[in-house]
Amino acid sequence: MSVSVVETIDLHWCSLRSHFLDLFFPPRCVGCRRVGVWLCTECLDQIPRVEPPFCTCCGGVVIANGLCTRCRTSPLRIECIRSVVYFEGVLRKAVHQLKYSGRTAMAGPLGDLMTAYWMQNPMPADVVVPVPLHAARLRERGYNQAALLAREMAGRVGLVVDEQTLIRQRATAPQVELNARQRKENVRDAFRCSGNGLAGKQVLLVDDVCTTGATLDACAVALYEGGARGVQALTLARAR
Ligand SMILES: [Zn+2]
Ligand SMILES: [Zn+2]
Repeated sequence: MSVSVVETIDLHWCSLRSHFLDLFFPPRCVGCRRVGVWLCTECLDQIPRVEPPFCTCCGGVVIANGLCTRCRTSPLRIECIRSVVYFEGVLRKAVHQLKYSGRTAMAGPLGDLMTAYWMQNPMPADVVVPVPLHAARLRERGYNQAALLAREMAGRVGLVVDEQTLIRQRATAPQVELNARQRKENVRDAFRCSGNGLAGKQVLLVDDVCTTGATLDACAVALYEGGARGVQALTLARAR
């Protein structure tokens, strides 16, 4: 069996398993436990939005409008990173369920948050590209949570998604335990473009959580090498 057939079966199994679970354990809001939804509108509204001032490049916390110290001293390759909400409370629980508990349906309400943000703050994009997982991680998890969010958002705002061209060629250690310098080193050369499908395109990268921006910037480097005209990123959440 080819790898793509195995991945397709894995994906079908994942969605079957999730439908099966819904039948016996109906959706409950991850915030208030209300029955019927995975994340209710009241809880969604209470998640703290990322508000200015933030760094005009990396989107990180700053005291006044402009570039943060890091972006002034060692600029990123990516044009800019924007995030919708802070990675805390209910949102952290929801992302955890999406990523580690197989709750793919959570991509619906979380994708709504990204869509609403994009409608208010549109970013230039010819194509949406989710940050890829390494093939081994994708097989293990059965899906890429960034791709689920990218499909939800892009579908609603009428953008196309490219999940083929950008590839994670090297499995990387989880970034969670690493400091900023180690994160940058960890993802260096981890990505590449296969083919020239993104040549001349303005790319909007999508991911679930941004911490230092190192992963997104490493993707941007690979996208520019693949001929992309420009690269910006939108992530659902931002770690403070
Ligand atoms: Zn709720
Ligand atoms: Zn910055």
